[in-house]
Amino acid sequence: MGNYYQPEIETASREEILRIQNEKIVKQVKHVYDNVEYYRNLMDQKGVKPEDIKSVDDIKKLPFLSKTDLRDAYPYGLLGTDLKNCVRIQSTSGTTGRRVVAFYTQADVDLWEECCARAIVAAGGTNEDVVQVAYGYGLFTGGPGLNGGSHKVGCLTLPMSSGNTERQIQFIQDLSATILCCTPSYAAFIGETMAEKGIKPEENTLKAGIFGAEPWTEEMRQSIQKSLGIKAYDIYGLTETSGPGVSFECEEQTGMHINEDHFYAEIIDPETGEVLPDGSLGELVFTSLDKEAFPLLRYRTRDLCVLTREKCSCGRTHVKMSKPKGRSDDMLIIRGVNVFPSQVETVLLNKGYTPNYQIIVDRVNNTDTMDINVELTPEQFEKHGNDVAPMEKALESAMRTMLGIGPKVHLLAPKSVVRSEGKAVRVIDNRKLV
Ligand code: ADP
Ligand code: ZN
Repeated sequence: MGNYYQPEIETASREEILRIQNEKIVKQVKHVYDNVEYYRNLMDQKGVKPEDIKSVDDIKKLPFLSKTDLRDAYPYGLLGTDLKNCVRIQSTSGTTGRRVVAFYTQADVDLWEECCARAIVAAGGTNEDVVQVAYGYGLFTGGPGLNGGSHKVGCLTLPMSSGNTERQIQFIQDLSATILCCTPSYAAFIGETMAEKGIKPEENTLKAGIFGAEPWTEEMRQSIQKSLGIKAYDIYGLTETSGPGVSFECEEQTGMHINEDHFYAEIIDPETGEVLPDGSLGELVFTSLDKEAFPLLRYRTRDLCVLTREKCSCGRTHVKMSKPKGRSDDMLIIRGVNVFPSQVETVLLNKGYTPNYQIIVDRVNNTDTMDINVELTPEQFEKHGNDVAPMEKALESAMRTMLGIGPKVHLLAPKSVVRSEGKAVRVIDNRKLV
């Protein structure tokens, strides 16, 4: 059994969670219907009235919201309260198109920071910890979210933001940081840079990392845990629902507990919109149960994952989501075959390669091509640098088995692939430019 930030709610019985959700959804649907014209129109079109929603079971009657709705309603169309009640704006990273802006009242900010505080405590954080926040600050939610959560737990907070890796490492050393928060790709880069400086994993004071904001594999976790000498916890969230902290990992590291008292989760078939039973892979949909300023109902995240309700040894009772396999729009369709960058990452790390890779997709003579640039470690480069062909061949064959299509692999000298300080760009799809 671990520690909890809000033990009563984090370990509440299923009945109690359901009771809270049922009570909140009725109020929230009314709040949205009364205040958000855009969604009221969607409900009217579907012939659903607030009175039809009596419990979370009725959520499936409500219309979906998608990223397109958010773009259409930009900037104020989904606002649930008067602007004078709002205290903050954050924005998406714009990874997949036009940015979306989200609004927060003070209560919304508190709720969000509490979710992040739960994640920090689940990673072993207490007021004796020094939390180095190396997510970007600003419009991006990573920095502000973990910063606020760290304050709530009472940790000594280092608001580093991302970048300036030398200084990150110096501050870890000089100020004895114990918990590092950043994207997993940046954590890998910090680990790599430490090794180059001759700092051994056991020589730094870090004990845990809270990494998220982008997809990363189990293999990547193992690699980061080794290079930094820490336990690495996953954290998930999106600007539309508040930011990081919608769900977080506990010490079991087998999926992220969704903060179900604030966010109601569904898994749907992305094609038909039908709600799927627990255990099925599908698109994650969130209904925010409390948010005042940006109260999205049935928001389609496009993230693909599985929900499970098996008992967790940490004592938390909230449903767990698997690591998102990637976004449905991260999925590449190459010669008709579905490919996720995470599959490429798994093969690379299993075969002893670096997580420094990039996938380039193109179309030549009406045929899709897939090239994977992978960096060698300095040791690999020294040993095999003048004859990489056999290694490339072996890797191509392993990729073909995993992906079902045969990419071309290019093994490159160390430092050939650009490092990420925030969300890594894993795919360059040149077909989109045509
Ligand atoms: P953008 O959509 O522009 O990247 P956000 O910064 O709000 O905007 O990012 C939210 C998205 O980041 C999520 O929908 C999800 O695809 C991804 N993400 C966040 N946390 C994780 C995580 N732990 N694992 C995988 N993907 C994640
Ligand atoms: Zn748990």
